[in-house]
Amino acid sequence: MPTKKVSIMHAQPTASHFINGKYVEDTNGKVIECIYPATGEVIAKLHSATPEIIDMALNAAKSAQKAWGKLSGTERGRVLRRASDIIRERNHELSVLETYDTGKPMQETLYVDATSGADALEYFGGLAGSITGEHIPLGEDWVYTKRIPLGVCVGIGAWNYPTQIACWKGAPALACGNSMIFKPSEMTPLCALKIAEILIEAGAPAGIYNVVQGYGDVGAALVTDPRVDKVSLTGSASTGKKVYAAAAAGMKHVTMELGGKSPLIIFDDADIENAIGGAMLANMYSTGQVCSNGTRVFVQSGIKDAFLKRFAERAAAIKIGDPMDEETQFGPMVSKSQRDIVMGFIEQGKAEGATLVCGGNAIDGAGYFIEPTVFADVTDNMTIAREEIFGPVMSVFSFETEEEVIARANDTDLGLAGGVFTNDIKRAHRVVDELDAGTCFINSYNDAPVEAPFGGVKGSGVGRENSKAAIEHYSQLKTVYVRMGNVDSPY
Ligand code: NDP
Repeated sequence: MPTKKVSIMHAQPTASHFINGKYVEDTNGKVIECIYPATGEVIAKLHSATPEIIDMALNAAKSAQKAWGKLSGTERGRVLRRASDIIRERNHELSVLETYDTGKPMQETLYVDATSGADALEYFGGLAGSITGEHIPLGEDWVYTKRIPLGVCVGIGAWNYPTQIACWKGAPALACGNSMIFKPSEMTPLCALKIAEILIEAGAPAGIYNVVQGYGDVGAALVTDPRVDKVSLTGSASTGKKVYAAAAAGMKHVTMELGGKSPLIIFDDADIENAIGGAMLANMYSTGQVCSNGTRVFVQSGIKDAFLKRFAERAAAIKIGDPMDEETQFGPMVSKSQRDIVMGFIEQGKAEGATLVCGGNAIDGAGYFIEPTVFADVTDNMTIAREEIFGPVMSVFSFETEEEVIARANDTDLGLAGGVFTNDIKRAHRVVDELDAGTCFINSYNDAPVEAPFGGVKGSGVGRENSKAAIEHYSQLKTVYVRMGNVDSPY
Protein backbone atom coordinates (compact mmCIF):
# COMPACT_ATOMS: atom_id res chain seq x y z
CA MET A 1 0.00 0.00 0.00
CA PRO A 2 1.25 3.55 -0.56
CA THR A 3 2.65 4.57 2.80
CA LYS A 4 4.50 7.72 1.89
CA LYS A 5 2.69 10.97 1.09
CA VAL A 6 2.05 11.30 -2.62
CA SER A 7 2.64 14.62 -4.30
CA ILE A 8 -0.79 15.84 -5.26
CA MET A 9 -0.56 17.94 -8.39
CA HIS A 10 -3.20 20.48 -9.16
CA ALA A 11 -6.12 18.54 -7.70
CA GLN A 12 -7.64 21.72 -6.22
CA PRO A 13 -9.95 23.15 -8.90
CA THR A 14 -10.11 26.88 -9.66
CA ALA A 15 -13.48 26.99 -7.88
CA SER A 16 -16.21 24.58 -6.81
CA HIS A 17 -18.81 25.14 -9.54
CA PHE A 18 -18.77 25.79 -13.28
CA ILE A 19 -21.72 27.91 -14.37
CA ASN A 20 -22.38 29.91 -17.53
CA GLY A 21 -18.92 29.16 -18.92
CA LYS A 22 -17.00 30.17 -15.78
CA TYR A 23 -15.74 28.82 -12.49
CA VAL A 24 -17.85 30.18 -9.63
CA GLU A 25 -17.38 30.02 -5.87
CA ASP A 26 -19.60 30.68 -2.87
CA THR A 27 -17.73 29.93 0.33
CA ASN A 28 -20.97 30.06 2.32
CA GLY A 29 -21.66 26.51 1.11
CA LYS A 30 -20.85 23.55 3.35
CA VAL A 31 -17.24 22.37 2.88
CA ILE A 32 -16.70 19.26 0.75
CA GLU A 33 -13.35 17.60 1.41
CA CYS A 34 -12.07 15.61 -1.53
CA ILE A 35 -10.03 12.71 -0.17
CA TYR A 36 -7.54 10.61 -2.13
CA PRO A 37 -8.70 7.09 -1.22
CA ALA A 38 -5.26 5.51 -1.52
CA THR A 39 -3.77 7.61 1.28
CA GLY A 40 -6.65 9.32 3.07
CA GLU A 41 -5.14 12.74 2.27
CA VAL A 42 -7.39 15.74 1.65
CA ILE A 43 -6.43 16.80 -1.88
CA ALA A 44 -9.01 19.54 -2.47
CA LYS A 45 -11.61 21.52 -0.60
CA LEU A 46 -14.78 22.61 -2.32
CA HIS A 47 -18.10 24.07 -1.24
CA SER A 48 -21.57 22.65 -1.64
CA ALA A 49 -23.88 24.82 -3.75
CA THR A 50 -25.88 27.44 -1.86
CA PRO A 51 -29.43 28.33 -3.02
CA GLU A 52 -27.88 31.31 -4.89
CA ILE A 53 -25.50 29.01 -6.79
CA ILE A 54 -28.33 26.59 -7.64
CA ASP A 55 -30.44 29.50 -8.89
CA MET A 56 -27.55 30.83 -10.97
CA ALA A 57 -27.04 27.43 -12.62
CA LEU A 58 -30.75 26.99 -13.37
CA ASN A 59 -31.02 30.46 -14.90
CA ALA A 60 -27.90 29.90 -17.00
CA ALA A 61 -29.10 26.53 -18.27
CA LYS A 62 -32.60 27.82 -18.98
CA SER A 63 -31.52 30.88 -20.93
CA ALA A 64 -28.76 29.12 -22.93
CA GLN A 65 -30.92 26.19 -24.00
CA LYS A 66 -33.24 27.93 -26.50
CA ALA A 67 -30.53 29.08 -28.91
CA TRP A 68 -28.59 25.81 -28.56
CA GLY A 69 -31.74 23.83 -29.36
CA LYS A 70 -32.27 25.89 -32.52
CA LEU A 71 -28.82 25.11 -33.96
CA SER A 72 -28.67 22.32 -36.52
CA GLY A 73 -27.73 18.95 -35.09
CA THR A 74 -24.57 18.98 -37.18
CA GLU A 75 -23.45 22.25 -35.58
CA ARG A 76 -24.07 20.88 -32.09
CA GLY A 77 -22.38 17.62 -32.99
CA ARG A 78 -19.26 19.45 -34.16
CA VAL A 79 -18.81 20.91 -30.65
CA LEU A 80 -19.20 17.49 -29.04
CA ARG A 81 -16.74 15.87 -31.43
CA ARG A 82 -14.19 18.63 -30.76
CA ALA A 83 -14.62 18.05 -27.03
CA SER A 84 -14.04 14.34 -27.61
CA ASP A 85 -10.75 15.11 -29.42
CA ILE A 86 -9.59 17.39 -26.59
CA ILE A 87 -10.37 14.69 -24.01
CA ARG A 88 -8.33 12.14 -25.94
CA GLU A 89 -5.41 14.58 -26.23
CA ARG A 90 -5.55 15.19 -22.47
CA ASN A 91 -6.26 11.56 -21.53
CA HIS A 92 -3.27 11.19 -19.20
CA GLU A 93 -4.05 14.31 -17.16
CA LEU A 94 -7.76 13.40 -16.95
CA SER A 95 -6.92 9.83 -15.95
CA VAL A 96 -4.71 11.10 -13.11
CA LEU A 97 -7.62 13.24 -11.92
CA GLU A 98 -10.02 10.28 -12.13
CA THR A 99 -7.56 8.27 -10.03
CA TYR A 100 -7.33 11.07 -7.44
CA ASP A 101 -11.12 11.29 -7.31
CA THR A 102 -11.85 7.56 -7.06
CA GLY A 103 -8.62 5.73 -6.18
CA LYS A 104 -9.05 3.46 -9.24
CA PRO A 105 -5.65 2.38 -10.61
CA MET A 106 -4.16 4.19 -13.60
CA GLN A 107 -4.11 0.82 -15.35
CA GLU A 108 -7.90 1.22 -15.52
CA THR A 109 -8.41 4.97 -15.74
CA LEU A 110 -6.02 5.37 -18.68
CA TYR A 111 -8.25 3.03 -20.73
CA VAL A 112 -11.85 3.24 -19.59
CA ASP A 113 -12.75 6.59 -18.03
CA ALA A 114 -11.85 9.69 -20.04
CA THR A 115 -11.75 7.51 -23.15
CA SER A 116 -15.26 6.24 -22.50
CA GLY A 117 -16.40 9.87 -22.02
CA ALA A 118 -14.71 10.76 -25.31
CA ASP A 119 -16.46 7.83 -27.02
CA ALA A 120 -19.85 9.16 -25.86
CA LEU A 121 -19.15 12.70 -27.09
CA GLU A 122 -17.87 11.37 -30.42
CA TYR A 123 -20.79 8.97 -30.91
CA PHE A 124 -23.57 11.41 -30.00
CA GLY A 125 -21.73 14.19 -31.85
CA GLY A 126 -21.92 12.01 -34.96
CA LEU A 127 -25.56 11.17 -34.37
CA ALA A 128 -26.72 14.74 -33.68
CA GLY A 129 -27.30 15.63 -37.34
CA SER A 130 -29.51 12.57 -37.84
CA ILE A 131 -32.02 13.21 -35.06
CA THR A 132 -35.15 13.43 -37.16
CA GLY A 133 -38.88 12.82 -37.05
CA GLU A 134 -40.93 11.02 -39.69
CA HIS A 135 -43.34 11.79 -42.48
CA ILE A 136 -46.72 10.03 -42.29
CA PRO A 137 -48.77 10.26 -45.52
CA LEU A 138 -52.56 10.50 -45.07
CA GLY A 139 -53.92 10.71 -48.62
CA GLU A 140 -53.70 14.39 -49.62
CA ASP A 141 -52.84 15.43 -46.08
CA TRP A 142 -49.91 14.37 -44.04
CA VAL A 143 -48.42 14.44 -40.59
CA TYR A 144 -44.82 15.13 -39.84
CA THR A 145 -43.09 14.69 -36.51
CA LYS A 146 -40.07 16.50 -35.14
CA ARG A 147 -37.75 15.35 -32.36
CA ILE A 148 -37.43 18.37 -30.11
CA PRO A 149 -35.33 18.96 -26.98
CA LEU A 150 -36.80 18.48 -23.52
CA GLY A 151 -35.23 21.68 -22.14
CA VAL A 152 -33.08 21.76 -19.00
CA CYS A 153 -31.74 18.35 -17.92
CA VAL A 154 -30.29 17.59 -14.51
CA GLY A 155 -27.67 14.83 -14.27
CA ILE A 156 -26.83 13.39 -10.85
CA GLY A 157 -23.84 11.09 -10.61
CA ALA A 158 -22.56 8.24 -8.46
CA TRP A 159 -18.91 8.17 -7.38
CA ASN A 160 -17.58 5.15 -9.22
CA TYR A 161 -17.19 6.61 -12.75
CA PRO A 162 -17.26 10.41 -12.38
CA THR A 163 -15.89 11.30 -15.85
CA GLN A 164 -17.86 8.64 -17.68
CA ILE A 165 -21.16 9.46 -15.99
CA ALA A 166 -20.71 13.21 -16.65
CA CYS A 167 -20.27 12.41 -20.36
CA TRP A 168 -22.80 9.58 -20.72
CA LYS A 169 -25.47 12.01 -19.54
CA GLY A 170 -24.09 15.21 -21.06
CA ALA A 171 -23.37 13.92 -24.57
CA PRO A 172 -26.89 12.72 -25.54
CA ALA A 173 -28.50 15.64 -23.68
CA LEU A 174 -26.48 18.21 -25.61
CA ALA A 175 -26.76 16.35 -28.93
CA CYS A 176 -30.55 16.60 -28.65
CA GLY A 177 -30.41 20.36 -27.99
CA ASN A 178 -30.89 20.39 -24.23
CA SER A 179 -28.78 22.12 -21.62
CA MET A 180 -27.48 20.31 -18.56
CA ILE A 181 -26.71 20.89 -14.92
CA PHE A 182 -24.58 18.05 -13.59
CA LYS A 183 -24.17 17.33 -9.88
CA PRO A 184 -21.35 14.88 -9.17
CA SER A 185 -21.29 12.76 -6.04
CA GLU A 186 -19.71 14.83 -3.28
CA MET A 187 -17.12 12.06 -2.94
CA THR A 188 -15.78 12.62 -6.47
CA PRO A 189 -16.27 16.29 -7.32
CA LEU A 190 -13.24 16.93 -9.55
CA CYS A 191 -13.68 15.26 -12.95
CA ALA A 192 -16.98 16.76 -14.17
CA LEU A 193 -15.52 20.28 -13.79
CA LYS A 194 -12.89 19.38 -16.40
CA ILE A 195 -15.57 18.15 -18.80
CA ALA A 196 -17.42 21.46 -18.43
CA GLU A 197 -14.17 23.36 -19.09
CA ILE A 198 -13.36 21.25 -22.15
CA LEU A 199 -16.83 21.72 -23.65
CA ILE A 200 -16.33 25.51 -23.50
CA GLU A 201 -12.90 25.12 -25.12
CA ALA A 202 -14.59 23.05 -27.83
CA GLY A 203 -17.01 25.88 -28.61
CA ALA A 204 -20.09 25.08 -26.50
CA PRO A 205 -22.02 28.23 -25.64
CA ALA A 206 -21.82 29.32 -21.99
CA GLY A 207 -24.59 27.83 -19.85
CA ILE A 208 -25.09 24.68 -21.91
CA TYR A 209 -23.22 22.39 -19.51
CA ASN A 210 -22.94 23.49 -15.89
CA VAL A 211 -21.55 21.67 -12.86
CA VAL A 212 -22.69 22.30 -9.30
CA GLN A 213 -21.30 20.49 -6.28
CA GLY A 214 -23.26 19.27 -3.35
CA TYR A 215 -24.73 16.62 -1.15
CA GLY A 216 -28.10 14.94 -1.67
CA ASP A 217 -29.96 18.14 -0.70
CA VAL A 218 -28.51 19.97 -3.72
CA GLY A 219 -29.64 17.10 -5.97
CA ALA A 220 -33.10 17.26 -4.39
CA ALA A 221 -33.34 21.05 -4.92
CA LEU A 222 -32.49 20.61 -8.60
CA VAL A 223 -34.92 17.74 -9.11
CA THR A 224 -37.88 19.67 -7.70
CA ASP A 225 -37.22 23.00 -9.46
CA PRO A 226 -39.88 23.87 -12.06
CA ARG A 227 -37.22 25.08 -14.51
CA VAL A 228 -36.02 21.47 -14.87
CA ASP A 229 -37.56 19.18 -17.51
CA LYS A 230 -35.60 15.95 -17.09
CA VAL A 231 -33.65 14.16 -14.40
CA SER A 232 -31.08 11.46 -15.07
CA LEU A 233 -29.71 9.75 -11.97
CA THR A 234 -26.97 7.20 -11.57
CA GLY A 235 -27.14 5.96 -8.01
CA SER A 236 -28.49 3.39 -5.63
CA ALA A 237 -31.94 1.84 -5.92
CA SER A 238 -33.11 3.56 -2.74
CA THR A 239 -32.04 7.04 -3.91
CA GLY A 240 -33.61 6.21 -7.27
CA LYS A 241 -37.02 5.68 -5.70
CA LYS A 242 -36.86 9.07 -3.94
CA VAL A 243 -35.63 10.94 -7.00
CA TYR A 244 -38.13 9.23 -9.32
CA ALA A 245 -41.01 10.17 -6.99
CA ALA A 246 -39.82 13.79 -6.71
CA ALA A 247 -39.48 14.06 -10.49
CA ALA A 248 -42.92 12.53 -11.02
CA ALA A 249 -44.48 15.21 -8.82
CA GLY A 250 -43.27 17.76 -11.38
CA MET A 251 -44.15 15.49 -14.36
CA LYS A 252 -40.50 15.46 -15.42
CA HIS A 253 -38.85 12.94 -17.73
CA VAL A 254 -36.46 10.53 -16.01
CA THR A 255 -33.63 8.11 -16.63
CA MET A 256 -32.78 5.99 -13.60
CA GLU A 257 -29.52 3.99 -13.74
CA LEU A 258 -29.56 2.18 -10.43
CA GLY A 259 -27.90 -0.70 -8.64
CA GLY A 260 -27.90 -4.41 -9.31
CA LYS A 261 -27.34 -7.85 -7.84
CA SER A 262 -26.65 -9.51 -11.13
CA PRO A 263 -26.16 -13.23 -11.80
CA LEU A 264 -23.28 -14.77 -13.71
CA ILE A 265 -24.04 -18.38 -14.68
CA ILE A 266 -21.20 -20.75 -15.53
CA PHE A 267 -22.11 -24.13 -17.05
CA ASP A 268 -19.77 -27.11 -16.82
CA ASP A 269 -19.01 -27.06 -20.58
CA ALA A 270 -17.62 -23.52 -20.41
CA ASP A 271 -13.99 -22.68 -21.06
CA ILE A 272 -12.96 -22.42 -17.43
CA GLU A 273 -10.13 -19.89 -17.85
CA ASN A 274 -12.47 -17.59 -19.80
CA ALA A 275 -15.21 -18.05 -17.23
CA ILE A 276 -12.82 -17.17 -14.41
CA GLY A 277 -11.61 -14.13 -16.38
CA GLY A 278 -15.26 -13.08 -16.78
CA ALA A 279 -15.98 -13.61 -13.08
CA MET A 280 -12.88 -11.55 -12.20
CA LEU A 281 -14.04 -8.69 -14.41
CA ALA A 282 -17.52 -9.07 -12.95
CA ASN A 283 -16.31 -8.69 -9.35
CA MET A 284 -12.84 -7.21 -9.01
CA TYR A 285 -12.60 -4.47 -11.65
CA SER A 286 -12.72 -1.00 -10.06
CA THR A 287 -12.41 -2.82 -6.73
CA GLY A 288 -15.90 -4.20 -7.28
CA GLN A 289 -17.52 -0.77 -7.45
CA VAL A 290 -19.45 -1.36 -10.68
CA CYS A 291 -23.24 -1.31 -10.86
CA SER A 292 -23.56 -4.13 -13.41
CA ASN A 293 -21.23 -6.51 -11.58
CA GLY A 294 -22.13 -10.19 -11.65
CA THR A 295 -21.78 -10.69 -7.91
CA ARG A 296 -23.88 -13.84 -7.70
CA VAL A 297 -21.76 -16.41 -9.51
CA PHE A 298 -23.67 -19.65 -10.12
CA VAL A 299 -21.26 -22.48 -10.98
CA GLN A 300 -22.57 -25.87 -12.13
CA SER A 301 -21.71 -28.37 -9.42
CA GLY A 302 -19.35 -30.58 -11.51
CA ILE A 303 -16.81 -27.78 -11.99
CA LYS A 304 -17.31 -25.82 -8.78
CA ASP A 305 -14.22 -27.06 -6.94
CA ALA A 306 -11.92 -26.61 -9.94
CA PHE A 307 -13.40 -23.14 -10.51
CA LEU A 308 -12.82 -22.03 -6.91
CA LYS A 309 -9.27 -23.42 -6.76
CA ARG A 310 -8.21 -21.69 -9.96
CA PHE A 311 -10.05 -18.44 -9.09
CA ALA A 312 -8.24 -18.26 -5.74
CA GLU A 313 -4.88 -18.78 -7.49
CA ARG A 314 -5.58 -15.97 -9.93
CA ALA A 315 -6.97 -13.70 -7.18
CA ALA A 316 -3.78 -14.20 -5.13
CA ALA A 317 -1.77 -12.82 -8.06
CA ILE A 318 -3.77 -9.57 -8.32
CA LYS A 319 -1.36 -6.67 -7.80
CA ILE A 320 -2.79 -4.43 -5.09
CA GLY A 321 -1.15 -1.12 -4.29
CA ASP A 322 -0.40 2.43 -5.32
CA PRO A 323 -2.99 3.36 -7.96
CA MET A 324 -0.51 5.74 -9.63
CA ASP A 325 1.79 2.81 -10.41
CA GLU A 326 0.66 1.54 -13.81
CA GLU A 327 1.50 -2.04 -12.77
CA THR A 328 -1.13 -1.88 -9.99
CA GLN A 329 -4.34 -3.74 -10.84
CA PHE A 330 -6.45 -3.18 -7.74
CA GLY A 331 -6.92 0.04 -5.78
CA PRO A 332 -8.73 1.07 -2.61
CA MET A 333 -12.42 1.53 -1.96
CA VAL A 334 -13.61 5.06 -2.71
CA SER A 335 -13.98 6.09 0.94
CA LYS A 336 -13.60 4.97 4.51
CA SER A 337 -17.37 4.74 4.91
CA GLN A 338 -17.69 2.53 1.82
CA ARG A 339 -14.87 0.31 3.10
CA ASP A 340 -16.66 -0.02 6.43
CA ILE A 341 -19.95 -0.91 4.70
CA VAL A 342 -18.24 -3.62 2.65
CA MET A 343 -16.38 -5.00 5.68
CA GLY A 344 -19.75 -5.17 7.45
CA PHE A 345 -21.11 -7.37 4.63
CA ILE A 346 -18.02 -9.60 4.80
CA GLU A 347 -18.53 -10.10 8.54
CA GLN A 348 -22.20 -10.89 7.91
CA GLY A 349 -21.23 -13.45 5.24
CA LYS A 350 -18.96 -15.21 7.74
CA ALA A 351 -21.56 -15.04 10.52
CA GLU A 352 -24.30 -16.49 8.30
CA GLY A 353 -22.13 -19.50 7.43
CA ALA A 354 -20.67 -18.82 3.98
CA THR A 355 -17.18 -20.29 3.41
CA LEU A 356 -14.43 -17.73 2.95
CA VAL A 357 -12.29 -18.93 0.02
CA CYS A 358 -9.91 -15.97 -0.10
CA GLY A 359 -9.54 -12.41 1.16
CA GLY A 360 -11.94 -11.11 3.75
CA ASN A 361 -9.69 -8.51 5.38
CA ALA A 362 -9.19 -4.79 5.28
CA ILE A 363 -5.55 -4.00 4.52
CA ASP A 364 -3.59 -1.98 7.10
CA GLY A 365 -2.53 1.52 6.16
CA ALA A 366 -3.96 4.96 5.62
CA GLY A 367 -5.82 4.09 2.42
CA TYR A 368 -9.15 2.27 2.18
CA PHE A 369 -7.96 -1.09 0.83
CA ILE A 370 -9.78 -4.43 1.11
CA GLU A 371 -8.55 -7.80 -0.14
CA PRO A 372 -10.29 -9.39 -3.14
CA THR A 373 -12.80 -11.61 -1.38
CA VAL A 374 -14.61 -14.77 -2.45
CA PHE A 375 -17.28 -16.67 -0.53
CA ALA A 376 -18.39 -20.20 -1.45
CA ASP A 377 -21.36 -22.25 -0.20
CA VAL A 378 -23.51 -19.14 -0.32
CA THR A 379 -27.22 -19.83 -0.08
CA ASP A 380 -29.92 -17.76 -1.74
CA ASN A 381 -31.23 -16.11 1.42
CA MET A 382 -27.95 -14.95 2.95
CA THR A 383 -27.50 -11.19 3.23
CA ILE A 384 -24.49 -11.27 0.86
CA ALA A 385 -26.68 -13.06 -1.70
CA ARG A 386 -29.44 -10.45 -1.58
CA GLU A 387 -27.93 -6.99 -0.96
CA GLU A 388 -25.83 -4.98 -3.37
CA ILE A 389 -22.41 -4.84 -1.65
CA PHE A 390 -20.57 -2.57 -4.13
CA GLY A 391 -17.13 -3.86 -3.25
CA PRO A 392 -14.76 -6.71 -4.22
CA VAL A 393 -16.86 -9.50 -2.75
CA MET A 394 -17.92 -12.41 -4.94
CA SER A 395 -20.47 -14.99 -3.83
CA VAL A 396 -20.34 -18.45 -5.40
CA PHE A 397 -23.39 -20.71 -5.49
CA SER A 398 -23.61 -24.17 -6.95
CA PHE A 399 -26.44 -25.41 -9.17
CA GLU A 400 -27.49 -28.56 -11.04
CA THR A 401 -29.91 -27.69 -13.86
CA GLU A 402 -30.61 -24.88 -16.29
CA GLU A 403 -34.21 -24.51 -15.14
CA GLU A 404 -33.18 -24.28 -11.48
CA VAL A 405 -30.46 -21.71 -12.05
CA ILE A 406 -32.71 -19.41 -14.12
CA ALA A 407 -35.31 -19.33 -11.36
CA ARG A 408 -32.68 -18.58 -8.73
CA ALA A 409 -30.93 -15.97 -10.88
CA ASN A 410 -34.21 -14.09 -11.33
CA ASP A 411 -35.13 -14.23 -7.65
CA THR A 412 -34.23 -10.59 -6.93
CA ASP A 413 -35.99 -7.24 -7.13
CA LEU A 414 -33.15 -5.90 -9.27
CA GLY A 415 -32.41 -6.57 -12.94
CA LEU A 416 -29.48 -4.60 -14.25
CA ALA A 417 -27.32 -7.26 -15.92
CA GLY A 418 -26.64 -10.97 -16.26
CA GLY A 419 -24.14 -13.26 -17.92
CA VAL A 420 -23.73 -16.83 -19.07
CA PHE A 421 -20.62 -18.85 -19.88
CA THR A 422 -21.20 -22.01 -21.95
CA ASN A 423 -20.00 -23.52 -25.21
CA ASP A 424 -23.56 -24.57 -26.11
CA ILE A 425 -24.73 -21.72 -28.32
CA LYS A 426 -28.42 -22.68 -28.11
CA ARG A 427 -28.32 -22.84 -24.33
CA ALA A 428 -26.54 -19.45 -24.17
CA HIS A 429 -29.36 -17.71 -26.05
CA ARG A 430 -32.08 -19.66 -24.23
CA VAL A 431 -30.69 -18.60 -20.85
CA VAL A 432 -30.25 -14.90 -21.66
CA ASP A 433 -33.79 -14.90 -23.08
CA GLU A 434 -35.05 -15.97 -19.67
CA LEU A 435 -32.94 -13.61 -17.53
CA ASP A 436 -34.74 -10.58 -16.05
CA ALA A 437 -31.96 -8.17 -16.97
CA GLY A 438 -31.56 -5.10 -19.15
CA THR A 439 -28.02 -5.95 -20.25
CA CYS A 440 -26.72 -9.49 -20.86
CA PHE A 441 -23.37 -10.99 -21.76
CA ILE A 442 -22.59 -14.32 -23.45
CA ASN A 443 -19.08 -15.65 -22.73
CA SER A 444 -18.06 -12.17 -21.57
CA TYR A 445 -18.85 -9.69 -18.81
CA ASN A 446 -19.18 -5.94 -18.25
CA ASP A 447 -18.52 -4.68 -21.78
CA ALA A 448 -20.22 -1.29 -22.21
CA PRO A 449 -19.59 0.10 -25.70
CA VAL A 450 -21.34 3.41 -26.36
CA GLU A 451 -23.10 1.87 -29.39
CA ALA A 452 -25.07 -0.53 -27.14
CA PRO A 453 -28.05 0.44 -24.94
CA PHE A 454 -27.28 0.19 -21.23
CA GLY A 455 -29.79 0.06 -18.38
CA GLY A 456 -31.86 -2.13 -16.14
CA VAL A 457 -35.26 -3.70 -15.65
CA LYS A 458 -37.27 -4.16 -12.41
CA GLY A 459 -35.78 -2.15 -9.51
CA SER A 460 -32.59 -1.38 -11.46
CA GLY A 461 -34.04 1.52 -13.34
CA VAL A 462 -35.97 3.19 -16.09
CA GLY A 463 -34.71 4.24 -19.51
CA ARG A 464 -31.48 3.49 -21.33
CA GLU A 465 -28.16 5.25 -21.65
CA ASN A 466 -25.90 5.14 -24.71
CA SER A 467 -26.76 4.05 -28.26
CA LYS A 468 -29.57 5.44 -30.42
CA ALA A 469 -31.97 4.50 -27.61
CA ALA A 470 -30.66 7.39 -25.46
CA ILE A 471 -31.96 9.87 -28.03
CA GLU A 472 -35.52 8.88 -27.13
CA HIS A 473 -34.79 9.68 -23.49
CA TYR A 474 -33.38 13.16 -24.17
CA SER A 475 -35.91 14.38 -26.75
CA GLN A 476 -39.64 14.33 -27.34
CA LEU A 477 -41.90 14.22 -30.37
CA LYS A 478 -43.88 17.12 -31.74
CA THR A 479 -46.62 16.09 -34.18
CA VAL A 480 -47.79 18.45 -36.94
CA TYR A 481 -50.95 17.71 -38.99
CA VAL A 482 -50.95 19.40 -42.41
CA ARG A 483 -54.29 19.76 -44.29
CA MET A 484 -54.14 20.46 -48.01
CA GLY A 485 -57.91 20.79 -48.70
CA ASN A 486 -60.73 22.70 -47.06
CA VAL A 487 -61.70 22.13 -43.44
CA ASP A 488 -64.74 19.82 -43.38
CA SER A 489 -66.50 21.33 -40.36
CA PRO A 490 -70.04 20.24 -39.45
CA TYR A 491 -70.70 23.57 -37.73
P1 NDP B 1 -26.35 7.25 -4.04
O1 NDP B 1 -27.67 6.75 -4.47
O2 NDP B 1 -26.03 7.35 -2.62
O3 NDP B 1 -26.09 8.70 -4.66
C1 NDP B 1 -26.21 8.96 -6.05
C2 NDP B 1 -26.29 10.48 -6.27
O4 NDP B 1 -27.56 10.96 -5.85
C3 NDP B 1 -25.25 11.27 -5.47
O5 NDP B 1 -24.79 12.35 -6.25
C4 NDP B 1 -26.07 11.72 -4.29
O6 NDP B 1 -25.53 12.86 -3.66
C5 NDP B 1 -27.40 12.04 -4.94
N1 NDP B 1 -28.55 12.07 -4.05
C6 NDP B 1 -28.71 11.43 -2.85
N2 NDP B 1 -29.95 11.66 -2.35
C7 NDP B 1 -30.59 12.46 -3.25
C8 NDP B 1 -31.90 13.04 -3.32
N3 NDP B 1 -32.81 12.84 -2.36
N4 NDP B 1 -32.22 13.79 -4.39
C9 NDP B 1 -31.32 13.99 -5.38
N5 NDP B 1 -30.06 13.48 -5.37
C10 NDP B 1 -29.70 12.72 -4.33
O7 NDP B 1 -25.30 6.31 -4.81
P2 NDP B 1 -23.74 6.24 -4.66
O8 NDP B 1 -23.12 7.56 -5.00
O9 NDP B 1 -23.42 5.62 -3.34
O10 NDP B 1 -23.35 5.24 -5.85
C11 NDP B 1 -23.44 3.86 -5.74
C12 NDP B 1 -24.72 3.34 -6.36
O11 NDP B 1 -24.83 3.77 -7.71
C13 NDP B 1 -24.77 1.84 -6.39
O12 NDP B 1 -26.04 1.38 -5.99
C14 NDP B 1 -24.56 1.52 -7.86
O13 NDP B 1 -25.09 0.30 -8.26
C15 NDP B 1 -25.20 2.67 -8.53
N6 NDP B 1 -24.69 2.83 -9.88
C16 NDP B 1 -25.50 2.53 -10.95
C17 NDP B 1 -25.02 2.59 -12.24
C18 NDP B 1 -25.90 2.30 -13.42
O14 NDP B 1 -25.60 2.79 -14.49
N7 NDP B 1 -26.96 1.54 -13.30
C19 NDP B 1 -23.62 2.96 -12.50
C20 NDP B 1 -22.88 3.28 -11.33
C21 NDP B 1 -23.41 3.20 -10.06
P3 NDP B 1 -24.57 12.58 -2.40
O15 NDP B 1 -23.55 11.60 -2.84
O16 NDP B 1 -24.00 13.91 -2.15
O17 NDP B 1 -25.45 12.06 -1.32
